[in-house]
Amino acid sequence: MGAPMSGLVIRRPSPVATLPPHCCASCRTSLTVCDACARQGRIEEATQKLAAAIKSIHPERRWSRTVNSDIMRERLSGVAWWRVTRGDKVYGKGDDFDPKHLSEAIGQWQRLVISGPDSGLGKTAIAVAIFREGLDFVQSEYVDKYSVGVGAPSWAESQRVLDQLDFYSNARFVAAIDLDDPRIMSTASRAPILVIDDAGHETKSGGFDAEKRAARMSDLLDRRERSSRAKTIVTTFGNSEQWESWYGGRIVRQWWQMPTATVLEMRRTA
Ligand SMILES: [Zn+2]
Repeated sequence: MGAPMSGLVIRRPSPVATLPPHCCASCRTSLTVCDACARQGRIEEATQKLAAAIKSIHPERRWSRTVNSDIMRERLSGVAWWRVTRGDKVYGKGDDFDPKHLSEAIGQWQRLVISGPDSGLGKTAIAVAIFREGLDFVQSEYVDKYSVGVGAPSWAESQRVLDQLDFYSNARFVAAIDLDDPRIMSTASRAPILVIDDAGHETKSGGFDAEKRAARMSDLLDRRERSSRAKTIVTTFGNSEQWESWYGGRIVRQWWQMPTATVLEMRRTA
Protein backbone atom coordinates (compact mmCIF):
# COMPACT_ATOMS: atom_id res chain seq x y z
CA MET A 1 0.00 0.00 0.00
CA GLY A 2 1.29 3.42 -0.93
CA ALA A 3 0.90 6.76 0.79
CA PRO A 4 -1.05 7.15 4.02
CA MET A 5 -4.57 8.41 3.84
CA SER A 6 -4.86 12.11 4.33
CA GLY A 7 -6.08 14.82 2.04
CA LEU A 8 -8.80 12.61 0.57
CA VAL A 9 -11.18 14.62 -1.54
CA ILE A 10 -14.35 14.91 0.51
CA ARG A 11 -17.42 15.69 -1.49
CA ARG A 12 -19.81 17.80 0.47
CA PRO A 13 -23.05 15.79 0.36
CA SER A 14 -25.61 18.59 0.64
CA PRO A 15 -26.64 21.72 2.53
CA VAL A 16 -25.53 22.92 5.93
CA ALA A 17 -28.49 21.22 7.60
CA THR A 18 -26.91 17.80 7.10
CA LEU A 19 -23.60 18.64 8.74
CA PRO A 20 -22.48 15.83 11.03
CA PRO A 21 -22.74 16.64 14.75
CA HIS A 22 -18.99 16.73 15.31
CA CYS A 23 -18.43 19.69 12.99
CA CYS A 24 -16.71 22.75 14.32
CA ALA A 25 -18.11 26.27 14.57
CA SER A 26 -16.38 27.33 11.37
CA CYS A 27 -17.98 24.47 9.39
CA ARG A 28 -21.38 25.39 10.71
CA THR A 29 -21.23 28.90 9.32
CA SER A 30 -19.58 28.15 5.98
CA LEU A 31 -20.68 26.17 2.95
CA THR A 32 -17.80 23.72 3.08
CA VAL A 33 -16.64 21.21 5.67
CA CYS A 34 -13.15 21.99 6.91
CA ASP A 35 -10.43 19.40 6.32
CA ALA A 36 -10.20 18.34 9.95
CA CYS A 37 -13.95 17.77 10.30
CA ALA A 38 -14.13 15.99 6.95
CA ARG A 39 -11.36 13.69 8.05
CA GLN A 40 -13.03 13.07 11.40
CA GLY A 41 -16.30 12.27 9.63
CA ARG A 42 -14.64 9.76 7.35
CA ILE A 43 -12.90 8.07 10.25
CA GLU A 44 -16.14 7.77 12.22
CA GLU A 45 -18.00 6.40 9.24
CA ALA A 46 -15.28 3.86 8.49
CA THR A 47 -15.03 2.79 12.13
CA GLN A 48 -18.79 2.20 12.31
CA LYS A 49 -18.82 0.24 9.07
CA LEU A 50 -15.97 -2.02 10.18
CA ALA A 51 -17.55 -2.49 13.61
CA ALA A 52 -20.72 -3.85 11.96
CA ALA A 53 -18.68 -6.59 10.31
CA ILE A 54 -16.81 -7.45 13.53
CA LYS A 55 -20.06 -7.46 15.53
CA SER A 56 -21.48 -10.21 13.34
CA ILE A 57 -18.89 -12.60 14.85
CA HIS A 58 -20.05 -14.34 18.01
CA PRO A 59 -18.40 -12.51 20.97
CA GLU A 60 -16.51 -15.62 22.06
CA ARG A 61 -14.96 -15.95 18.61
CA ARG A 62 -13.95 -12.35 17.96
CA TRP A 63 -10.47 -12.67 19.46
CA SER A 64 -9.10 -14.82 16.67
CA ARG A 65 -6.58 -12.89 14.59
CA THR A 66 -4.14 -13.74 11.88
CA VAL A 67 -1.13 -12.30 13.73
CA ASN A 68 1.25 -12.61 10.79
CA SER A 69 -0.62 -15.64 9.53
CA ASP A 70 0.70 -17.77 12.37
CA ILE A 71 -2.73 -18.98 13.40
CA MET A 72 -2.63 -21.53 10.62
CA ARG A 73 0.68 -22.96 11.81
CA GLU A 74 -0.41 -22.82 15.44
CA ARG A 75 -3.72 -24.60 14.87
CA LEU A 76 -2.51 -27.16 12.39
CA SER A 77 0.48 -28.14 14.52
CA GLY A 78 -2.01 -29.08 17.24
CA VAL A 79 -3.91 -31.66 15.18
CA ALA A 80 -2.77 -35.19 14.40
CA TRP A 81 -3.81 -35.11 10.76
CA TRP A 82 -4.71 -32.43 8.22
CA ARG A 83 -4.90 -32.05 4.48
CA VAL A 84 -5.89 -29.40 1.97
CA THR A 85 -7.36 -30.47 -1.34
CA ARG A 86 -8.27 -28.51 -4.47
CA GLY A 87 -10.70 -30.69 -6.37
CA ASP A 88 -9.08 -34.13 -6.53
CA LYS A 89 -5.54 -32.81 -5.98
CA VAL A 90 -3.81 -32.66 -2.62
CA TYR A 91 -2.50 -29.12 -2.18
CA GLY A 92 -0.68 -29.76 1.10
CA LYS A 93 -0.83 -32.02 4.09
CA GLY A 94 0.58 -32.86 7.50
CA ASP A 95 4.34 -32.83 7.99
CA ASP A 96 5.49 -32.05 4.47
CA PHE A 97 3.94 -28.61 4.14
CA ASP A 98 4.47 -25.29 5.88
CA PRO A 99 1.04 -23.93 6.89
CA LYS A 100 2.36 -20.41 6.37
CA HIS A 101 2.14 -20.94 2.62
CA LEU A 102 -1.41 -22.03 3.18
CA SER A 103 -2.39 -18.69 4.75
CA GLU A 104 -1.05 -16.89 1.69
CA ALA A 105 -2.81 -19.19 -0.76
CA ILE A 106 -6.13 -19.12 1.06
CA GLY A 107 -6.31 -15.38 0.53
CA GLN A 108 -6.62 -16.09 -3.20
CA TRP A 109 -9.26 -18.81 -3.03
CA GLN A 110 -12.89 -18.00 -3.56
CA ARG A 111 -14.28 -20.65 -1.25
CA LEU A 112 -13.06 -22.92 1.46
CA VAL A 113 -14.64 -25.69 3.51
CA ILE A 114 -12.94 -26.30 6.86
CA SER A 115 -14.04 -29.75 7.93
CA GLY A 116 -13.34 -31.86 11.00
CA PRO A 117 -15.47 -34.21 13.05
CA ASP A 118 -14.22 -33.04 16.45
CA SER A 119 -14.92 -29.77 18.22
CA GLY A 120 -12.02 -27.69 19.53
CA LEU A 121 -9.84 -28.27 16.46
CA GLY A 122 -9.75 -24.57 15.67
CA LYS A 123 -11.96 -24.63 12.57
CA THR A 124 -13.80 -21.49 13.59
CA ALA A 125 -10.62 -19.80 14.81
CA ILE A 126 -9.07 -20.25 11.37
CA ALA A 127 -12.24 -19.03 9.64
CA VAL A 128 -12.40 -15.92 11.82
CA ALA A 129 -8.72 -15.22 11.23
CA ILE A 130 -9.20 -15.31 7.46
CA PHE A 131 -12.34 -13.20 7.82
CA ARG A 132 -10.56 -10.58 9.92
CA GLU A 133 -7.54 -10.24 7.69
CA GLY A 134 -9.26 -7.88 5.27
CA LEU A 135 -10.89 -5.91 8.05
CA ASP A 136 -7.60 -5.47 9.87
CA PHE A 137 -5.97 -4.43 6.62
CA VAL A 138 -8.54 -1.70 5.99
CA GLN A 139 -8.37 -0.64 9.63
CA SER A 140 -4.61 -0.12 9.43
CA GLU A 141 -4.50 1.29 5.88
CA TYR A 142 -7.50 3.55 6.14
CA VAL A 143 -8.57 4.36 9.67
CA ASP A 144 -5.21 4.32 11.43
CA LYS A 145 -3.17 6.10 8.76
CA TYR A 146 -5.94 8.53 7.98
CA SER A 147 -6.23 9.32 11.67
CA VAL A 148 -2.55 10.19 11.73
CA GLY A 149 -3.12 12.40 8.72
CA VAL A 150 0.27 12.60 7.06
CA GLY A 151 0.97 12.51 3.35
CA ALA A 152 -1.59 12.79 0.59
CA PRO A 153 -2.64 9.88 -1.64
CA SER A 154 -3.60 10.33 -5.24
CA TRP A 155 -7.29 10.49 -6.06
CA ALA A 156 -7.15 7.02 -7.58
CA GLU A 157 -5.44 5.67 -4.50
CA SER A 158 -8.04 7.08 -2.15
CA GLN A 159 -10.88 5.72 -4.31
CA ARG A 160 -9.27 2.31 -4.20
CA VAL A 161 -9.12 2.40 -0.41
CA LEU A 162 -12.73 3.54 -0.16
CA ASP A 163 -13.76 0.65 -2.40
CA GLN A 164 -11.85 -1.72 -0.14
CA LEU A 165 -13.53 -0.22 2.90
CA ASP A 166 -16.97 -0.84 1.38
CA PHE A 167 -16.02 -4.34 0.34
CA TYR A 168 -14.57 -5.51 3.65
CA SER A 169 -17.02 -3.72 5.92
CA ASN A 170 -19.87 -5.72 4.36
CA ALA A 171 -18.18 -8.99 5.33
CA ARG A 172 -20.35 -11.09 7.62
CA PHE A 173 -20.04 -14.04 9.97
CA VAL A 174 -23.18 -16.17 10.39
CA ALA A 175 -23.93 -19.31 12.38
CA ALA A 176 -25.63 -21.96 10.22
CA ILE A 177 -28.33 -22.37 12.85
CA ASP A 178 -29.26 -18.65 12.58
CA LEU A 179 -30.09 -18.78 8.87
CA ASP A 180 -33.76 -19.29 9.83
CA ASP A 181 -33.83 -15.54 10.32
CA PRO A 182 -34.70 -13.99 6.93
CA ARG A 183 -32.67 -10.85 7.69
CA ILE A 184 -29.57 -12.90 8.46
CA MET A 185 -30.16 -15.00 5.34
CA SER A 186 -30.47 -11.91 3.20
CA THR A 187 -27.28 -10.39 4.63
CA ALA A 188 -25.47 -13.70 4.14
CA SER A 189 -26.51 -13.85 0.49
CA ARG A 190 -25.09 -10.41 -0.24
CA ALA A 191 -21.92 -10.29 1.88
CA PRO A 192 -18.76 -10.06 -0.28
CA ILE A 193 -16.97 -12.17 2.34
CA LEU A 194 -18.97 -14.66 4.36
CA VAL A 195 -18.17 -17.15 7.06
CA ILE A 196 -20.85 -19.80 7.62
CA ASP A 197 -20.06 -21.40 10.95
CA ASP A 198 -20.93 -25.00 11.78
CA ALA A 199 -22.77 -26.14 8.66
CA GLY A 200 -24.73 -29.26 9.49
CA HIS A 201 -25.71 -28.05 12.94
CA GLU A 202 -28.96 -26.77 11.46
CA THR A 203 -29.92 -30.36 10.52
CA LYS A 204 -29.42 -31.80 13.99
CA SER A 205 -32.99 -31.29 15.17
CA GLY A 206 -34.11 -33.87 12.58
CA GLY A 207 -37.54 -34.05 10.98
CA PHE A 208 -39.21 -31.62 8.64
CA ASP A 209 -37.59 -28.54 10.21
CA ALA A 210 -34.15 -29.98 9.58
CA GLU A 211 -35.02 -30.68 5.96
CA LYS A 212 -36.24 -27.14 5.46
CA ARG A 213 -33.09 -25.74 7.03
CA ALA A 214 -30.85 -27.96 4.92
CA ALA A 215 -32.70 -26.87 1.79
CA ARG A 216 -32.16 -23.24 2.74
CA MET A 217 -28.47 -23.83 3.34
CA SER A 218 -28.17 -25.69 0.06
CA ASP A 219 -29.74 -22.74 -1.72
CA LEU A 220 -27.34 -20.29 -0.02
CA LEU A 221 -24.29 -22.43 -0.85
CA ASP A 222 -25.40 -22.68 -4.47
CA ARG A 223 -25.83 -18.90 -4.74
CA ARG A 224 -22.48 -18.24 -3.06
CA GLU A 225 -20.70 -20.59 -5.42
CA ARG A 226 -22.10 -18.85 -8.47
CA SER A 227 -21.24 -15.35 -7.31
CA SER A 228 -17.88 -14.66 -8.90
CA ARG A 229 -16.62 -11.91 -6.61
CA ALA A 230 -17.78 -13.35 -3.30
CA LYS A 231 -15.56 -15.27 -0.91
CA THR A 232 -17.08 -17.90 1.35
CA ILE A 233 -15.58 -19.92 4.19
CA VAL A 234 -17.66 -22.71 5.71
CA THR A 235 -16.80 -24.62 8.87
CA THR A 236 -18.44 -27.99 9.36
CA PHE A 237 -18.21 -31.21 11.36
CA GLY A 238 -19.53 -32.99 8.26
CA ASN A 239 -17.61 -34.81 5.54
CA SER A 240 -18.58 -34.99 1.87
CA GLU A 241 -20.89 -37.99 2.45
CA GLN A 242 -22.78 -36.10 5.12
CA TRP A 243 -22.98 -33.03 2.90
CA GLU A 244 -24.39 -35.24 0.17
CA SER A 245 -27.20 -36.41 2.46
CA TRP A 246 -27.89 -32.90 3.80
CA TYR A 247 -27.44 -30.69 0.74
CA GLY A 248 -27.37 -33.01 -2.28
CA GLY A 249 -24.88 -34.02 -4.96
CA ARG A 250 -24.78 -30.67 -6.74
CA ILE A 251 -23.50 -28.88 -3.63
CA VAL A 252 -20.92 -31.61 -2.98
CA ARG A 253 -19.60 -31.22 -6.53
CA GLN A 254 -19.39 -27.43 -6.17
CA TRP A 255 -17.80 -27.36 -2.73
CA TRP A 256 -15.76 -30.59 -2.55
CA GLN A 257 -15.01 -31.89 -6.03
CA MET A 258 -14.65 -29.14 -8.62
CA PRO A 259 -11.01 -28.11 -9.36
CA THR A 260 -11.65 -24.77 -7.62
CA ALA A 261 -13.24 -26.38 -4.55
CA THR A 262 -10.88 -26.12 -1.61
CA VAL A 263 -11.28 -28.26 1.50
CA LEU A 264 -9.18 -28.17 4.65
CA GLU A 265 -9.76 -31.36 6.63
CA MET A 266 -8.53 -31.70 10.20
CA ARG A 267 -8.61 -34.61 12.65
CA ARG A 268 -7.58 -34.91 16.23
CA THR A 269 -6.34 -38.47 15.71
CA ALA A 270 -4.50 -39.87 12.70
ZN1 LIG B 1 -14.86 21.92 10.84
